Amino acid sequence: MNPRKFMKYPDAFTPQPKKEGMFEEFDATQLFCPKCKQAVSVRKRLLLVLPEGDKYEYLCAFCSESVGTKIDRHGKPTTVIV
Ligand SMILES: [Zn+2]
Repeated sequence: MNPRKFMKYPDAFTPQPKKEGMFEEFDATQLFCPKCKQAVSVRKRLLLVLPEGDKYEYLCAFCSESVGTKIDRHGKPTTVIV
């Protein structure tokens, strides 16, 4: 038996304090591009406007390959017409 094994785990469970403000959704500025085969700077392009938010597409700054999408959720309530 090795009691030390149960004493301490690595810092895997260290709670991350939530940052103040509303900047949880950081803008990804570097994404992996499958064409360039490296992390590249990206350009954000508005793709769709959805009820839950705006859908953006990230394009590689070098070859304009689509490297990802994300939905920017608005905090504001949407008016639903029934
Ligand atoms: Zn690229």
